[in-house]
Amino acid sequence: MTDELGGLARPEVSVEDAARVVRERWGVEGDVVELGSNQDRNFRIGAGHVLKVANAVTDLTELEAQNASMDVLDGAGLRAPQPVESVDGRTVEPVEIGGVTLHARLLTYVEGTPLMDVESFGDAEARMLGETAGRIVAALAGFEHEGTTRTTQWDLRAAPDVVRALLHHVPESLRARVANASLDSVARVAAVSPALPRQVIHGDVTDDNLVLDEQGSVGVIDLGDLMVSWRVAELAVALTGVLANGCDDPLTSLETVRAYAEQVPLEHAEVVALWPLVVLRCAVLVTSAAELTAIDEGNDYAAERTSREWRAFRLATSIDPDEMAVLVAATVAGVRPRPFSLGRMLPEGVRPRVVDLSVLSPSLDAGRWLEPDAEQAVLAAQGAPVSTRWAEHRLTQARPLAARGSAKTLALGVDVVVPEGTLLHVPFEGERVRIDGGFELRGDALTLVVRGDVEDGDGLGLASGHLRVQLHRTEAPRAPFLVSPRAHALWRALSPDPSALLGVDVAAPQPDPDDVLARRDAAYAPVQEHYYAAPPQVERGWRELMVDTQAQVYVDVVNNVATTGHAHPHLVEAATRQWSLLNTNSRFHYAAVAELSERLAALAPDGLDSVFLVNSGSEAVDLAIRLAQTATGRPRMLAAREAYHGWTLASDAVSTSLGDNPRALESRPDWVELIDAPNSVRGTHRGADAAAGYLADLDVQLDALGEEGRAQLAGVVIEPIFGNGGGVLLPDGYLAGVFERVRALGGVCISDEVQVSYGRLGEHFWGFEQQGAVPDVITVAKAMGNGQPLGAVITTREIAEAFAAEGSFFSSSGGSPVSSRIGLAVLDVLESERLQENAREVGGHFRERLLALADLHPAIGAVHGMGLYLGVELVSDRETFAPATQLAADVCDLLLEEGAIVQPTGDHKNVLKIKPPLVITRESVDYVVDALDRVLSMLG
Ligand code: PMP
Repeated sequence: MTDELGGLARPEVSVEDAARVVRERWGVEGDVVELGSNQDRNFRIGAGHVLKVANAVTDLTELEAQNASMDVLDGAGLRAPQPVESVDGRTVEPVEIGGVTLHARLLTYVEGTPLMDVESFGDAEARMLGETAGRIVAALAGFEHEGTTRTTQWDLRAAPDVVRALLHHVPESLRARVANASLDSVARVAAVSPALPRQVIHGDVTDDNLVLDEQGSVGVIDLGDLMVSWRVAELAVALTGVLANGCDDPLTSLETVRAYAEQVPLEHAEVVALWPLVVLRCAVLVTSAAELTAIDEGNDYAAERTSREWRAFRLATSIDPDEMAVLVAATVAGVRPRPFSLGRMLPEGVRPRVVDLSVLSPSLDAGRWLEPDAEQAVLAAQGAPVSTRWAEHRLTQARPLAARGSAKTLALGVDVVVPEGTLLHVPFEGERVRIDGGFELRGDALTLVVRGDVEDGDGLGLASGHLRVQLHRTEAPRAPFLVSPRAHALWRALSPDPSALLGVDVAAPQPDPDDVLARRDAAYAPVQEHYYAAPPQVERGWRELMVDTQAQVYVDVVNNVATTGHAHPHLVEAATRQWSLLNTNSRFHYAAVAELSERLAALAPDGLDSVFLVNSGSEAVDLAIRLAQTATGRPRMLAAREAYHGWTLASDAVSTSLGDNPRALESRPDWVELIDAPNSVRGTHRGADAAAGYLADLDVQLDALGEEGRAQLAGVVIEPIFGNGGGVLLPDGYLAGVFERVRALGGVCISDEVQVSYGRLGEHFWGFEQQGAVPDVITVAKAMGNGQPLGAVITTREIAEAFAAEGSFFSSSGGSPVSSRIGLAVLDVLESERLQENAREVGGHFRERLLALADLHPAIGAVHGMGLYLGVELVSDRETFAPATQLAADVCDLLLEEGAIVQPTGDHKNVLKIKPPLVITRESVDYVVDALDRVLSMLG
């Protein structure tokens, strides 16, 4: 395959060889610098020349054809390299290098910066690619040369063969995607290929083969792929360059299409074939890159490009090809919306009520949006006349476990239910034509399509029941009824607002996440960060799923607060009921505070029977520290490095995770004594004996404190699992050892259970149980309220009573009736839905699958944790365990596109935290792990 199609490892040519060749054959001298190439060897020679040494399989006539085409481009005013004659008067010189005869050419150097290196690639650059591709196609239209008729792997006519032959080099996680996308595209192209015009094309008009000089004039380099092929392939390749180059929106490529079409009109077959050819080009690039990496491991140039090429593939396949065909056709047609006037279609007496099917719809709570007949049910509940909204992102069309942007949620028309025999008026002048399942009214500017039960009669006919109504611009291609939301503005322009037809405003409010983000940034102190640079606006949750305003669904993998899942009906009911009865403070006497305290005390180890109710983890830790200090009468607290315990003055004082505060270590108050972070994976002591090592160090530290007279401890505050490290289990025996030493010095032991309690570990309800240690004080929050501000401190009666020395303790809404009822409801659901068991089973499966991924991807250095408290540590080197911080950020961004919300943690922000709601299903876990597999393969 490779031999036939000419893709091969590069010839062996050193910088010294290059210098010798140009000196001997061209009499040219200069500094020699190697330039990148997939299959040849290119060298910059001094300021003015480039030496190109072709792959041994390249035919002489091909090189001659390239040289001839340079003349043609030059003649058309495009800056292109020009061949330089050798001392023997040849423009292609046979040279002997390493015992092989290779063809060398010296070309003039085309000044300029590659478009690829332009800092922010945007619409202007996208247009430039399109315009240049069009100018090249126009210039080469009449060009013929025998050296252009070869078959190469870059000729898109050969793409199906190339992809089929090279597919096995692609990582398994992505193979089916590449195969399916290619097969679909091949079929689409085949349907129109006989009608595709052919000619000589450059074949590689991409951002790295166009250069811009200081005057902004475009130069074209690298004619190595010159060939006869489909003309539209020139544009398809240019579009791939746009997708590879940092624009996150595949629609930017429409600018390229527009600019190209101004130079060379696109024929219908070309419009149809264009996007499938883009997909095929991407498939050829990723399969070829995979092959090249396999046969030429040292080719860093190829390795670097791989992630760019996957990016192009991902973007090209992120949009439905049918939708893209309509958008390309609309772009090429240059649709300029004409003004129109629209009368009523429904009679005066029929004014539909308007129902809400958006993400905020009150009719779709409690997961009702997932039921297949949800839309019908909402319409039926209202009765006729009723209408849905236009340009609404329908929650009813949302699809869990799918890539972001893939669900076709945007409705470009409306569903209207009318009373039996409703006379439809003619809303504008046009021709009424019967179509399958309804009729069309074709006017000059607009075409109205109505599907449903309409009998011919007066006006547009007599309608009954459910109608589907959509307007189209007559001169433009037809938009489907439901589309994916990415091109929403374009879609709305193609299918205008039908409100006037119905006599009521049916336009849905348009979500604008960017505007909301700008308002947030302006009014909400920015130190309160948000996930992601361009976050989706998430307005609904259900179980482990989150839904954004465009009704795109994500698996929530980070939300350990939502123990019972989002929007749990039992919690909704408990909160609503208690709000409607009473919400006040715990100085009043009501049952909920007693019930919740009893339940918590019963869950804690014997002897820990006194409960304080507060509003957050920070408050709980703050209070626990004060309890230790008042119970002992001493100030000094031990705390582990790199941990996070909260934001209040005391909880912040014992927090030193650098991710939260990079200067934490410089600013500890003197009552805080830090001990080493007990990380048995990347810390001071690793492996099986780590506990002994850390405890021996602690002994030394405590002895030194004793010598300084500072060993008078109030206690220790510590997480029973190293949360900030990404869920790293403490070395066996460590926590019991620490507690023993602290107690020996009269101190109080606080286990900060804010992250890991409530059954999250699967095997254990509390984190300290995993360590076989029992604390004197437990702090708990997060999971306890499932998002309601609710925290608790559970301790012994003795420690609790000692606190009376500080006066009374009161927190205005700690233990309020509403909070307490929610706290009880969470415990009810935890029990009735056996969520701890789910954490054990589904969490165990999650861990197994992640461990299997680690075998495939060297970037996974370790999988931490247990149950549904896991961490995937990404490293750039498994030996040194060097953190792969950038990779972790890129993985999280791509996972969002795959429909999974995952964030990094740790002092190096290189550990993916896996702590989903405890209701997560095996199916969702599999979806997330498969997505992670693909993403790691794409990022290489
Ligand atoms: N302790 C630990 C271990 C935590 O992870 C956190 C929060 N991330 C806190 C305490 C503070 O909790 P809150 O944000 O509810 O104040």
